[in-house]
Amino acid sequence: MKRTSPGGALGTARALTALAVSLIAPTCLCAGEPVMARVESNAPTALPRIRQHAFDGDPATDFASSRNAQVGDQLTLWFEKPIKTHKIEVATGRLDAGSLEISRNGRTFEKVAAFTKGAARWATEKQGVSAVRVICDRAMDHPLVVREIVIDSQPRVARFDYPVEFVLDCQDAPRMLPWLEKAARICEREYPMINRELASAGFKPPQIIHMALKSSYDGVAATSGDRIVGSVEYFRRNLHDFGAMVHETTHVVQHYQGGDNPGWLVEGVSDYVRFFKYEPGHLGPIRRSSARYDHGYRESAAFLAFLVHQYDPTIVLKLNAAMRHGTYKESIFETLTRKSLQSLGEEWLGSEPGPAKKQEVKTSP
Ligand SMILES: [Zn+2]
Repeated sequence: MKRTSPGGALGTARALTALAVSLIAPTCLCAGEPVMARVESNAPTALPRIRQHAFDGDPATDFASSRNAQVGDQLTLWFEKPIKTHKIEVATGRLDAGSLEISRNGRTFEKVAAFTKGAARWATEKQGVSAVRVICDRAMDHPLVVREIVIDSQPRVARFDYPVEFVLDCQDAPRMLPWLEKAARICEREYPMINRELASAGFKPPQIIHMALKSSYDGVAATSGDRIVGSVEYFRRNLHDFGAMVHETTHVVQHYQGGDNPGWLVEGVSDYVRFFKYEPGHLGPIRRSSARYDHGYRESAAFLAFLVHQYDPTIVLKLNAAMRHGTYKESIFETLTRKSLQSLGEEWLGSEPGPAKKQEVKTSP
């Protein structure tokens, strides 16, 4: 079974999840803090014209369905918290028998505008809007295309600055598909964070990531290029371990193409993003008597966090840029901190571990 990530088949469950999120969310939001969104469609994607292109601020890119639009085909933008709308404008392809709808309860939708010549506009002050959708009212002889949704609201909605879509393969374990969809949703939600942590000049991350669960794979998970493979057996026994997929998604963003990059640092950066940005406080104790900065994974992640705290808040960004652009040399540590890697490692082991404040991990995007 090969299909793109959450496409609307679990509509009711998702609507309830969205409602639950909105009910527990604080109603007063800081004016400058944008609301995050996720986008779904019941129509399959004509790759590479992915769903997030419909809300990426770039009218030159669009979402397109891989089949001609049918009655009820829709593309929905869900907001993590309700917003107050001022204006919504949508540019599609040639949609001329479609509706622009909003939802205030996360379950039912009301029509607020009709599409004419591919465009719809609605300018009404409305509180508590939790979703906006474009829906086809009759079958078309062309795909559903959504070029751009523009929302003027309070608070503002964060656009997809790093558009991405996960293509899922759960053929080996069809009953694990809901789990894989959830993992993809989480990684999709974290994609902007990962890209901000690992930004470098001129780099554009992959926009399509293949994520599969394979029964023949007996590790935890592995990544090659833009392909992630996880073990059916492992994730069946460790349903909570979405962080492992965030770690693998970080490898996709690292996008290292050869060079002399040490494995410990590659894994350390990935676990740094996982344990210090995605799920802070979940690293667990590091046994100082046996730990080394170059053991990779958690130990190297903790070492990097120490360097971030003690020497340079942007050191991970700089190390990543060097590894991505093939210029990494061990001497970079000396350049950035004026100390050798070896002495930094010893200093880390002799330091007091910082307070590990455990934070709740968002697993219901
Ligand atoms: Zn790894």
